[in-house]
Amino acid sequence: MDIIRDPLALQRTCLNWRSGGLVVGLVPTMGYFHAGHLSLMDYARSRADRLVVSLFVNPTQFGPNEDLARYPRDPERDAALAREHGVDLLFTPDPGAMYAPDHATWIEVPSLARGLCAATRPIHFRGVATVVGKLFLLTQPSFAAFGEKDFQQLALIRRMVRDLNFPLEVVGRPIVREDDGLALSSRNVYLTPEERRAAPAIRKGLLAASEWAGGGLRSVADLTARLRAFYAEQMPMSRLDYAEVVDPDSMEPVTEIRGRALLAVALHMSKARLIDNILLEV
Ligand code: AMP
Repeated sequence: MDIIRDPLALQRTCLNWRSGGLVVGLVPTMGYFHAGHLSLMDYARSRADRLVVSLFVNPTQFGPNEDLARYPRDPERDAALAREHGVDLLFTPDPGAMYAPDHATWIEVPSLARGLCAATRPIHFRGVATVVGKLFLLTQPSFAAFGEKDFQQLALIRRMVRDLNFPLEVVGRPIVREDDGLALSSRNVYLTPEERRAAPAIRKGLLAASEWAGGGLRSVADLTARLRAFYAEQMPMSRLDYAEVVDPDSMEPVTEIRGRALLAVALHMSKARLIDNILLEV
């Protein structure tokens, strides 16, 4: 496995691969690998001739009061795991190599960056779209794999790729969970032991809501009110950021559950903000 820090060296290598007819797969990450990241790598490995993983804690997607400085990092362990999972090229740029001091060009997808996580993280998705766009141009992948845990991010990247004609396939992959249902996240290390014990209730609430919808509860206002009450009782140490039902493609809020709808939640614990979602199909 090669570790490359220089964006232009990455681009040269990947352009060579593509012009040689090789299928290049890309998995963008912020590192501190867990089984969710590894499942994306395994999937991409099974399809690609050359597998590129980027490990970059992208400063432009963090707000001023967010956890950029303390975001968990373990580059050596990450490199060892990437190697074990068959990664050909690990791209670990410095922020200064990705953003010139006078960087001025941004990709924005405003209609998908409203509501849900964008409501409390106003610049987050501009940073995500821009860095992912840059990674696509540097890597020229045939396909790129993303987790459905970050469903709004996935919807936004799909739209960006369609609207700007990036020549690649975007693949969404299922959420990998702990045995007790908690969605894996690099940020789970922020949880206190008490919060960690309570955290599986996030998924339990989503499953309960899916049953309520299946049992005929169609009003989103009623469903989210019930879910709020569930979390208040099961996770009194948490604060709900949002519980919303949206169209899974447009991320537009819906008021009645019909067909496919995405129920997404974010909860604040003392140091962690955790997200999860479930597709409701009625
Ligand atoms: P991150 O390093 O948190 O930015 O995540 C990198 C990629 O891994 C993104 O596409 C995430 O959606 C995906 N990912 C994160 N957690 C999970 C999980 N529990 N299951 C599946 N994919 C995940």
